[in-house]
Amino acid sequence: MKTDMEYRRLGKSGLKVSALSFGSWVTFSNQLKEKDALEIMSYAYDNGVNFFDNAEIYANGESEIIMGKILKKTGWGRDTYIVSSKVFWGGELPTQIGLSRKHIMDGCHAALKRLQVDYLDLFFCHRPDQETPIEETVRAMDVLIRQGKVLYWGTSEWEAKQITEAYEVAAKYNLTPPTMEQPEYNMFNRSKIEMDYLPLFKKYGLGTTTWSPLASGLLTGKYNHGFPSNSRVYVEGYEWLREQFESEETIRKIVVVKKLESIAKKVGISLAQLSLGWCLKNPNVSTIILGASQKSQLKENLATLDIMDRITDKIVKEINDKL
Ligand code: NDP
Repeated sequence: MKTDMEYRRLGKSGLKVSALSFGSWVTFSNQLKEKDALEIMSYAYDNGVNFFDNAEIYANGESEIIMGKILKKTGWGRDTYIVSSKVFWGGELPTQIGLSRKHIMDGCHAALKRLQVDYLDLFFCHRPDQETPIEETVRAMDVLIRQGKVLYWGTSEWEAKQITEAYEVAAKYNLTPPTMEQPEYNMFNRSKIEMDYLPLFKKYGLGTTTWSPLASGLLTGKYNHGFPSNSRVYVEGYEWLREQFESEETIRKIVVVKKLESIAKKVGISLAQLSLGWCLKNPNVSTIILGASQKSQLKENLATLDIMDRITDKIVKEINDKL
């Protein structure tokens, strides 16, 4: 069955982004080679997903190379999808890291090449850079936008006061302000979206493209009884995640996940859908970026849109009481 996609404005901008989008962070190259990545991305696109998220650091550029080949192969009209990149970690040398004007320019040009596109729809500063004045970063993004290489720029995991400074610098010098921020948002990580950014939503109409809605899979319940052998905790380079999942903190979270599981059971949906639906209920979320290493996961996650009527305000309250 084809899911009816919902489209939301990216903050106060005119850009309509699918409420559920798709990102390639751990998956492309590490878990999915080109053929399987093409299949999963096509499934997303055919079901109304119009935003594909990427970054220069993902699989050290390989993730963008794979996505670029897919965009070329499928021949989807350039006006039918939104593609992003993020700049910050471009390599090991001092000129390849951070948000200097130089690395922003180099990072953009390299991403355009890897993705095989003429422009990036969204370009994110992947983290704040304490060693570059925010004015330098805003000016560099403004130049890329004036050159037509980027349509909208944004931040990821910046503090509210840093984003505010970016808006103020942009207003002062008549530069293009940020449009969106990419924070983590899930039942275990709520403070930026639900508290810190509230003034920014109100004053500037900041949009959000939120990440790890399932806390890397924890909120599907799949880690309740050990680590499944084909999961991301066993991907080379992600040993840190396995360590995190072995921590006391995660053990405490799993106690909560088990309680959430019973709520999902009661309403007749999967825990993944309950977790995604809970995020979707927040109107300050413009799009939730999904991750999936299997088509069946993506299918289940996209079907969240079909069961939203079951996640009533009462159920949301019941969930929040357990967190
Ligand atoms: P999630 O928290 O949703 O985790 C996705 C993973 O959970 C999948 O790859 C899969 O892992 C597992 N999973 C997903 N659905 C199911 C299901 N229905 N049943 C069982 N397991 C499931 O999202 P991600 O952490 O992948 O983040 C999504 C995107 O957000 C990234 O691709 C990236 O684009 C962006 N992101 C941005 C960051 C930033 O700093 N700006 C940081 C992190 C992510 P498995 O292979 O183990 O089965």
